[in-house]
Amino acid sequence: MYDLIIIGAGPAGITAAVYAARKKMQFLVLTQDIGGQAAWSADVENYTGYQLITGADLARRFEEHMRQYAIAVHEQEPVESVVAEGYRIVVRTARAAYETRTVIIASGKRSRELGVPGEKEFRNRGLTYCATCDGPLFAKKDVAVIGGGNSALDAALQLVRFCSRVYVINDAPRLGGDEIAQDKLLEAKNAQVFNNARVTGIEGDKFVKAVTMRQEGARRRLDVQGVFVEIGLLPNSGFAKEVGKNESGEIIVDCSNTTSVPGVFAAGDVTTVPEKQIIIAAGEGAKACLTAFRYLNQHRF
Ligand SMILES: Cc1cc2nc3c(=O)[nH]c(=O)nc-3n(C[C@H](O)[C@H](O)[C@H](O)COP(=O)(O)OP(=O)(O)OC[C@H]3O[C@@H](n4cnc5c(N)ncnc54)[C@H](O)[C@@H]3O)c2cc1C
Repeated sequence: MYDLIIIGAGPAGITAAVYAARKKMQFLVLTQDIGGQAAWSADVENYTGYQLITGADLARRFEEHMRQYAIAVHEQEPVESVVAEGYRIVVRTARAAYETRTVIIASGKRSRELGVPGEKEFRNRGLTYCATCDGPLFAKKDVAVIGGGNSALDAALQLVRFCSRVYVINDAPRLGGDEIAQDKLLEAKNAQVFNNARVTGIEGDKFVKAVTMRQEGARRRLDVQGVFVEIGLLPNSGFAKEVGKNESGEIIVDCSNTTSVPGVFAAGDVTTVPEKQIIIAAGEGAKACLTAFRYLNQHRF
């Protein structure tokens, strides 16, 4: 019987693990990989204390910090289910079933992909899924934002401040999302919206050079140096069937990372916490661990 099982070893899970080690909890980390999405970022410029660090280096430093402690980490052991039976929670993987008093779900998210030719080849070579992270790299360049909901609007409104031109390619007849954000985008002189337009491919050589699309039967090609895919996020939360989620599948947490199931806490991108960033996920992981620790102290099992 563990005190705690942490699911995931991205910024949220690793930070939770460091806190759990320092609280001398009996715990285990079950994860698919180490570093999570943080390792996919080319350059990270917004993690306090590092003006510039590659995502891979930051993930390595997170791992080094975690490995200073004698922590049991089962890599490549994804969780398949979490079932609470009173004060006993059973976490199952393909290899084993583990019993624990508390769980922190820190399994992150993945971006919904376009599924068009060129997407995989140009990932991190002009094509990105995070405007907050990578937008400034495209200052004074022409870029396309794919999508028409709030994430796409948010990305486009960030980019119009410093990019030369921002094309928004939306496959619906009109933009969705907040009306004020729509108005702001339509007022921006360097933004152009293509409705009823479906991206057909990403082209380039070493880096992105163009995006192709089909709009009401006609083919179009836009010369751009950057493509921001903003068509939604898919939280890795399917294995947590009993836990309350919003319509996007994000685990609903309060400000102490408590979920709808007693003893089950969640942190980082898999949750409803607004803004998906490394520093936020790390802070959420720390909070979730402290809440789990308090929960253990407050219960007689
Ligand atoms: C390309 C890219 C660039 C980015 N750049 C930046 C940046 O510059 N600055 C910034 O602040 N943020 C950036 N982000 C966002 C940032 O990476 C995320 O907000 C952050 O990594 C979220 O941390 P997390 O721990 O919540 O989840 P994740 O990093 O997604 O980690 C989730 C962990 O859970 C594991 N996992 C998943 N499913 C299971 C399962 N079933 N069982 C067990 N383990 C599982 C994964 O293997 C992984 O270890 C970027 C994101 C992307 C995609």
